[in-house]
Amino acid sequence: MKKLLLLICLFTYQLQAQKSAITPKNVEKHIAFLASDELKGRGTGTKDEQKAADYIAKHFKSLGLEPKGTNGFEQPFKANIDTVHAVDARNVVAYLDNGADRTIVIGAHYDHLGEGYQRGSLEANSKGKIHNGADDNASGVAGVLEMARYYAKNGVKESHNFLFICFSAEELGLLGSKYYSNNPTIDLSKVNLMLNFDMIGRFDAAKAITVGGWGTSPTWGQVVPLVMEREKMLFKIDSAGAGASDHTSFYVKKIPVLFFFTGVHGDYHKPSDDTQLINFEGEAKILNAVTGIINDVDKLPNRLEYRETAMPMARNMSFKVTMGLLLDYSFNGPGIKVDGVSKNRPGEAAGIKGGDLILRLDKYNLNTIYDYMGALGKFEKGQTVEAEVQRGNEKLKLPVTF
Ligand SMILES: [Zn+2]
Repeated sequence: MKKLLLLICLFTYQLQAQKSAITPKNVEKHIAFLASDELKGRGTGTKDEQKAADYIAKHFKSLGLEPKGTNGFEQPFKANIDTVHAVDARNVVAYLDNGADRTIVIGAHYDHLGEGYQRGSLEANSKGKIHNGADDNASGVAGVLEMARYYAKNGVKESHNFLFICFSAEELGLLGSKYYSNNPTIDLSKVNLMLNFDMIGRFDAAKAITVGGWGTSPTWGQVVPLVMEREKMLFKIDSAGAGASDHTSFYVKKIPVLFFFTGVHGDYHKPSDDTQLINFEGEAKILNAVTGIINDVDKLPNRLEYRETAMPMARNMSFKVTMGLLLDYSFNGPGIKVDGVSKNRPGEAAGIKGGDLILRLDKYNLNTIYDYMGALGKFEKGQTVEAEVQRGNEKLKLPVTF
């Protein structure tokens, strides 16, 4: 009898596990809808973005999660497009109450560039073209929706509560996450960790995933490598707690963060960032690894220790000069890796090409992107400096005129 009971328990446990498992099919379903032409690129404050918000809220509701906005699942706010225009935007927020005294926030932005009218497009003549944003960031939203399903349906009561949140107006300057962290609907002092997914759809197993926020807690060095080894996943780290996505808004509130990112690509912020280019298997693998990290953190007896990290490049850092390069932020040096070159800018004029590694600018050696930002801050318009470039086996010295 005992054996039978045990068998039944095991069986129901397996059923639960199967029901909650994160699958490539589910990831695909969410991305295919959110990045379809019907949603017209989910521009902040548009009726098309509202369709995405409704889809997210409906999913949260179907899982039996508690609405944690200020208007049901929605948290409305005003998003400034520029100094004179504001639009009505909304975050979509749900809560899984496990009666715990610690909470994990899992977030991703669901807005994108719409039809190219707001700002941020890298397409020439962007206006009127749908920027579907399958990787940026339907992929991240699919991640939040799948994590929500996993934790709502796994039949386990974790020692953390979970807040699932999809932010609007990220593309306009992290506005949704800033609004939430300044107007939280839960007690932020209980938040042990914030996880952010922004562009997790282009996983390349050989290229590895970037895990950001590494420096924000000493625990990451203990937990993450073990999980990644278990999952047989290559990963790279970025120490900074602040960066160009929504985890920054929580890091500045002294909350440890982790940020998952599969890297920039040629379709970044262009109408060609489409569903058929997403690696659904790869994304499901990433999400399963993240549940591994969460489940390990869940077993720790104490709260995570928060650490401040070195100041990264600020999103709004201004330079007198720029080169017009699209960089591979997941590249770990030495040198900075160029992914793309904008037309009619100093980089292109100097003959720099996608795939090049820039090792030195003038007298400044470039080991990281921060060195590059630091060097740019030293130059003036009209100045010509030498760039040392590695292209395949060739080393080139190219004059760059700003
Ligand atoms: Zn994004």
